[in-house]
Amino acid sequence: MAASIFTRIINGEIPCHKVYEDDRVIAFLDINPLSPGHTLIVPKEPAETVDKLSDESASAIGRVLPRISRAVLAATGAKAFNILQNNGAGAHQAVFHVHFHIIPKFESGQGLGIGWKPGKLEDGAALASRIAAAI
Ligand code: AMP
Repeated sequence: MAASIFTRIINGEIPCHKVYEDDRVIAFLDINPLSPGHTLIVPKEPAETVDKLSDESASAIGRVLPRISRAVLAATGAKAFNILQNNGAGAHQAVFHVHFHIIPKFESGQGLGIGWKPGKLEDGAALASRIAAAI
């Protein structure tokens, strides 16, 4: 399978505005930001979606998410932000290499807009036990 655009960034074949790197993770500015400071945190492991990601890469991402979030807030002056993580074309994923978006939200409204239409939980006990059994 062809290397994803993020693997090519990790390999230095494509430039990026890098803000962080360690042995398992890279973070850089999104090329089409929803707001100033929109940053992508990417595991170097080329998993397509988060359900395929190793525990080691997941831990490495989790370890730096708060630190990079704080840095984005400090650098932009934003007081709020969203972390977005899309999996699958049906869920708006365009680059098939796991990534977490950090998207500052400004009082002007700039940032992530969310269409959220909550339903009513039904058969919660059965569903929860099916999910728990699958973990
Ligand atoms: P998603 O819809 O979650 O897959 O988002 C993919 C994101 O990657 C989009 O926000 C793009 O703007 C961003 N993106 C694509 N190519 C690049 C690139 N070369 N450098 C930085 N960000 C990129």
